[in-house]
Amino acid sequence: MTRFDVVTLFPEMFDAVTRFGITGRACERKLAAVVAHQLRDYAYDTYKTIDDRPYGGGPGMVMMAGPLTEAVVAVKAQQQAAGYGPGPVILMSPSGQRIDQSMIDRLAQGPACWTLVCGRYEGVDQRFIDQQVDECWSLGDFVLSGGEIAAMAILDAVIRKLPGALGEPESAIQESFSQQGPGGGILDWPHYTRPEVFAGEAVPDVLLSGHHERIADWRKRAALAATQKLRPDLLATPSGKPDPGGKAST
Ligand code: SAH
Repeated sequence: MTRFDVVTLFPEMFDAVTRFGITGRACERKLAAVVAHQLRDYAYDTYKTIDDRPYGGGPGMVMMAGPLTEAVVAVKAQQQAAGYGPGPVILMSPSGQRIDQSMIDRLAQGPACWTLVCGRYEGVDQRFIDQQVDECWSLGDFVLSGGEIAAMAILDAVIRKLPGALGEPESAIQESFSQQGPGGGILDWPHYTRPEVFAGEAVPDVLLSGHHERIADWRKRAALAATQKLRPDLLATPSGKPDPGGKAST
């Protein structure tokens, strides 16, 4: 079972991952465990203070290094007591490495335990990052009000890739950005279900033909066309130039 410990001011938010859908089922079936820890439990005072004003002035509050460090040390002790080796400590941060599917795939095959730390306010004291954090990860080039949604997005993407989490394992192969997919890291093909004609628009004939090879060929070409139209950057060569025949022709 892969174990994810999360340090946060809002542990209840993680019910969204542990209680619903594919990730909820994976937790229920003990493929994954998400343990959310309340940072305030590691505060030094009775007011449960975990933040303070920034040195040098300026707006907002900064999360103090002390309680964050106590929390991470306690979490590591719990992981060890549960039989897990020391896993990496990851801070959610807009200045971190941007998450993409190839990174998620590596994570799903990676260590059996992780600690994700969620910032709030202006962020966290740099000394906590210097001393306790192994890596910083970002959801994208925009600023969230806290690390929880970023951590949940990562948890969702990783947990669904754990062996046995998806009902049909091929779903994770035949999807956007999948390196094992027919195009190798391109977008998914368009999907259709009943009725055959909706608001005057018919399902492409080939999908009704029952001819598996022709269907596979159509899907491959449709995925490539969608990628060319919507995300040409995914087809770009390392030199940055689009490579129209490239990846998808293999
Ligand atoms: N002052 C910071 C933003 C702090 S936002 C700055 O300008 O960079 C508060 C917290 O939200 C951060 O500490 C981080 O944990 C989380 N967060 C915000 N945007 C994020 C993103 N794009 N990816 C991951 N975490 C993010």
